[in-house]
Amino acid sequence: MPNNTIVPRGTKIRKINLSRKTAPCPRCGTVSKRHSIGHRRLREVGISAPTMLEVTYSKHYCVSCRKHFSLPMDHLAQPSGRFTNRVRRTAVDLVVKQEMTLEKATQRMRQKYHVHVPPTTLHDWVVAEMKID
Ligand SMILES: [Zn+2]
Repeated sequence: MPNNTIVPRGTKIRKINLSRKTAPCPRCGTVSKRHSIGHRRLREVGISAPTMLEVTYSKHYCVSCRKHFSLPMDHLAQPSGRFTNRVRRTAVDLVVKQEMTLEKATQRMRQKYHVHVPPTTLHDWVVAEMKID
């Protein structure tokens, strides 16, 4: 896999293929053909074991803009994030709604959902959440 993510022992891999033959250019809307395939690994909430999503997505070329773009997957994860939005949502809720400390929330995420979210990462998520509201 072309990704430097470390996969813990016993990790469950769930595969999702989002690749499409064509997609609208995010800049101008021109329907653009796929020119290649990309892969991305995301840490996901796990019920009984560490879980990772292996996402296959398409990369496209817009002939109008003469630029490449990747199929958006904002519904799954932040553009450069290593975790799914579900992990982020779950962890932030522990802090914001259940009023846990960052360390406690990190511990809960590891024990209950088998995913390690560093307190510094969680801190950034909570701060970002506060700005939106
Ligand atoms: Zn375009």
